Amino acid sequence: MISFSEALSIVIANSTRAMPTETVPLVLAAGRVLANSVVATENIPPMPNSAMDGYAIHAEDVTTASVDMPVALQVIGESAAGSPFPGVVGRGQAARIMTGGILPEGANGVIEVEATTETDTTVLVRRAIRLWESVRAAGEDIQEGAEVIPAGKRLTAADVGVLASLGIVNVPVRLKPIVGLLATGNELVEPFRTPSLGQIRNSSLPALYALCNSFGAEPIDLGIAGDDRDDLLESIEQGLRYDLLVTTGGVSAGEYDLVQEVLPELGVSIQFHQVNIRPGKPVMFGVYDVADQRTLVFGLPGNPVSTVVTFQQFVLPAMRTMLGMTEQPMHMAARLTSPIKKADSKRHFIRGIFSTDETGQLAVATTGTQSSGALSSVSKANCLIILPENSGFHESGDSVTIEFL
Ligand code: AMP
Ligand code: MG
Repeated sequence: MISFSEALSIVIANSTRAMPTETVPLVLAAGRVLANSVVATENIPPMPNSAMDGYAIHAEDVTTASVDMPVALQVIGESAAGSPFPGVVGRGQAARIMTGGILPEGANGVIEVEATTETDTTVLVRRAIRLWESVRAAGEDIQEGAEVIPAGKRLTAADVGVLASLGIVNVPVRLKPIVGLLATGNELVEPFRTPSLGQIRNSSLPALYALCNSFGAEPIDLGIAGDDRDDLLESIEQGLRYDLLVTTGGVSAGEYDLVQEVLPELGVSIQFHQVNIRPGKPVMFGVYDVADQRTLVFGLPGNPVSTVVTFQQFVLPAMRTMLGMTEQPMHMAARLTSPIKKADSKRHFIRGIFSTDETGQLAVATTGTQSSGALSSVSKANCLIILPENSGFHESGDSVTIEFL
């Protein structure tokens, strides 16, 4: 049986087909993966401007200013946001300025209005200022020529704002990978049905569908196939049209676990089956590569927790690679609040809840029952506790690695 890291390398090595690029309007770009890095073609702000409401002045004019001995300057005009002052501020002069107003020529600092009193045509300044005080320099936010957003970044709301400030209204992004999702099992019924004796609701597929959406992939619901060769052949064949096909169930050692038989019959070349992890040991991965079509095929185990964990650990990395994404799952060290005994040499992914303790350090507790059938353990969790292969007993207070969910 191969290790987790070997399995992950095999998945990544096979995620060779980069998603093509499309252009989307700016307002639809958040959550998408940027295809080409964005280089600023201009300075933001384009001109020096004021960070305060006040007066644009010469710092040298007010070096002696104090509450008791204010300095009087002649007010010669105004620079408001959107209507700059066209003249030059000379020595002994001041121009009223609003936040965002362009700093007039000549001035080299701004005194905030609170430290002044205006009377008729003069303003009394009650303190000295530093050179360039309260002035935002041209290019302070974004410098012309600088890379502002790297290719492969999943765009955030702030990125959309940055793109807008640069006038980029059509954004090159990667196409979303299309993921066929197929549940297998004679016992499964759609969630809107009332199961009869021995039946259960298909809970994994809606969870995977939601995971695809929140990740930025496009899920296709292929429904439920029975544990029946013909049924599986037909559904899987349909799924081989997409970038990825994810099946759940039918990859264990049971008599009705037929997915592993059917995949090779349809031309899927199996790269691995079974990985030294818990939950999720029976996970299977193959590649369908025929003519122009290349589909990565993941046969995930049926236990809902195994399904979700193996989706996160193998399917998401494949999609990140195809999307050229820079973002990786966030790992942190946290202190265990109760001991965990691990009796095998598998890598464990334990559902955990992290919080900060009294000292501000990260602490983590398990969600309790770790049965791989208990999807509620994932629902309660905000992280996975990752226990490596070679570890055994973990005491309370031990440092462990957690992965944020
Ligand atoms: P299998 O891997 O097909 O042997 O399934 C393992 C366990 O997971 C069985 O108890 C199944 O009933 C259950 N299971 C399989 N698929 C699903 C699903 N889509 N939703 C909920 N439970 C499932
Ligand atoms: Mg089954």
